[in-house]
Amino acid sequence: MFIDSHCHLDKLDVASEEGGIQAALQRAKDQQVSHVLCIGIDMENIQNVLDIAESHPNVFATVGAHPLYQENKPPSLDELLLLAEHSKVIGIGESGLDYFYCKGDLQWQRDRFVTHIQAAVKTDLPLIVHTRAAKLDTLDLLTEHGQGKVKGVLHCFTEDLDMAQQAIELGFYISISGIVTFNSADELRNVVDKIPLEKLLIETDAPWLTPVPNRGKSNEPKYVVDVAKKIADIKGVSIETVAQATTNNFFTLFSKAKNSK
Ligand SMILES: [Zn+2]
Ligand SMILES: [Zn+2]
Repeated sequence: MFIDSHCHLDKLDVASEEGGIQAALQRAKDQQVSHVLCIGIDMENIQNVLDIAESHPNVFATVGAHPLYQENKPPSLDELLLLAEHSKVIGIGESGLDYFYCKGDLQWQRDRFVTHIQAAVKTDLPLIVHTRAAKLDTLDLLTEHGQGKVKGVLHCFTEDLDMAQQAIELGFYISISGIVTFNSADELRNVVDKIPLEKLLIETDAPWLTPVPNRGKSNEPKYVVDVAKKIADIKGVSIETVAQATTNNFFTLFSKAKNSK
């Protein structure tokens, strides 16, 4: 059993005449992908995300504001707290800092990130963090505003081992996407080798970042198995071991998922 811990089901490149999201979830199930976490990115898409989660028993949802879309309306703290009461909402995010794709004065990213950290602390839900080329500020804000209470995951991780270790110290898991299968990702494979399996999650971040050997196709949850396969290769363990560990990790972190139908 595998879990795609980060996916944008509402953005999948699936035609409704071919069964749409329902068919993609069935293809995932056929590959033993049992659950999918569908990620909110702004106030506009949250209703779609909730609709998808409500109509599929093994799909959960999160609410947040993605750091790459300044023009999109982010949820306020009160809106986050209210949305978090929904039985299918098991996490806050994605939110975070991206200094790789965004330039200039990025105080707006930091302000939004702090709001999400506060919501995670207040709701006791895990925070899904998007972080790229912003190591110091990400760790500083989590430390300062998390008050030792925030937990969560650094998703689609591509930073260095030191950042992973510091985040784990703070109570975070590290989620690995299809990037780990890319030819150019030797450094990331080295980091994955050194992070304990007990701290890893797997994800597709679909529709983006399709893993090898399916590059060129649009990504969907079933391909999370290729991420697990690569982690098993790197660590010299069986794919079943990776499947079981990452599934256990998911339910340990996202404990609300256990009671959510
Ligand atoms: Zn992201
Ligand atoms: Zn994402």
